[in-house]
Amino acid sequence: MAKKTARMIITLACTDCQERNYTSAKNKRNDPGRMEFTKYCPRCRCHTLHRETK
Ligand SMILES: [Zn+2]
Repeated sequence: MAKKTARMIITLACTDCQERNYTSAKNKRNDPGRMEFTKYCPRCRCHTLHRETK
């Protein structure tokens, strides 16, 4: 049987232009806060900070 985990699908939005470029999954237990990643934004055409959004 698969272990029951609280995995959530999250959306990552560029903090510069608010464009939602990525989706990811996280474990709410391990990461209770908002997650941040530096990722490439096609709209800004460079790497920007992407933050978890609802
Ligand atoms: Zn952007």
